[in-house]
Amino acid sequence: MNRVFQKINNPLEYLENKKEDYFGCFQIYCSGASAATVLADRVTRELKKAIRQEVYNKSSALIATEIRCGDQALNGNKSKLENHILLSLLENLDFRRCEQYIDNPKAYYEAFIKEREEACFSSRNPRLFRICTEKLENIKSSVLLAISKSAAYFGNTRTKATAWIERFCKELKNEIVFSINNVRGFEDQDIQDMNFFKESINDLLNSTYLELKEEFSGNTPLDRKLFRSQPHEELFKQCCGCCKKCPFCSAMCINTMPTHEGDDHCAQFHRPQTIRGIKWYKTDRLVTDICSSLVASDCRLVLSEDNKIPYRDYRQAGPEYACWSITPDKSLQPFWKWFVCHFKADLEKKYNGRLTDIPDHWKTITKENVIEALKK
Ligand SMILES: [Zn+2]
Ligand SMILES: [Zn+2]
Ligand SMILES: [Zn+2]
Repeated sequence: MNRVFQKINNPLEYLENKKEDYFGCFQIYCSGASAATVLADRVTRELKKAIRQEVYNKSSALIATEIRCGDQALNGNKSKLENHILLSLLENLDFRRCEQYIDNPKAYYEAFIKEREEACFSSRNPRLFRICTEKLENIKSSVLLAISKSAAYFGNTRTKATAWIERFCKELKNEIVFSINNVRGFEDQDIQDMNFFKESINDLLNSTYLELKEEFSGNTPLDRKLFRSQPHEELFKQCCGCCKKCPFCSAMCINTMPTHEGDDHCAQFHRPQTIRGIKWYKTDRLVTDICSSLVASDCRLVLSEDNKIPYRDYRQAGPEYACWSITPDKSLQPFWKWFVCHFKADLEKKYNGRLTDIPDHWKTITKENVIEALKK
């Protein structure tokens, strides 16, 4: 031992620079334990990190599913989610928040889903921990099996440590990310007694398992930075799909595929064009009509002073219009009728225009009517 350390210029610095793992090994050497014990200790310590990471890797998608199925806003289709988004706007009614949603629905959806994820995690939902614990059990069984198989492979003969490690990694069959690079430094070591080695590593693994089990017991929060892909990202992918906005009214595409080449974008409900500040030609009057009724009208779309096209030919207006399918439909959600009335002054001020065409029956809709319709 001494000779090894004398070769290094600055042994103190050397020791400090090394991880405590190595220091641990050194202590065990000095206490006279065998190389096999050091190896078992080192392997188990590395395994702990690898198993923990694998629990997070394997649980992430299942946790996303669990959050989804336990959440009223997320457990249905995209239009149900949209209704919950509108309900969330009503809950903390504020014109600026509504504007943010209209301008950038994708960001609003993301933030909404992140909030739902947060609520589920902070409720310490025991189902989430059960998912992790189940994964931990499975991984532990695979690791124990790999230990037993790799030990059996060599029988009770004197075995090179590296040969066993390689065999062990092979038997793990990619169940966890673990390779010989995790346990360098045993190149010259032998395992004298395979049975003893196997027993020590099994014992150590068992205490490691109990420590990990405690981590996933629900007594402490999950270490969410260890998720390679965060559950809310998975949820966003599952629930939101295409986030393209109608070029007139900003309604989001209903398609659940993030991209759907060759398939037109399509919104379930269009909205009064007021909310995007569109005005009748050469007036300050804001348009309360919705895109899907305008395409069935005789109105014309003014592209420039000398380029006016029938509204139904809206696809000619440019590439972002060409990929939208807007078919005649008069249906308009009560939410937007109420929204235009409630925020009349804000909309007029924002767009420097006048709202003179609000249909009378819109004005009779109450917030309660809107909520009722969205909860249907
Ligand atoms: Zn469930
Ligand atoms: Zn529209
Ligand atoms: Zn789309």
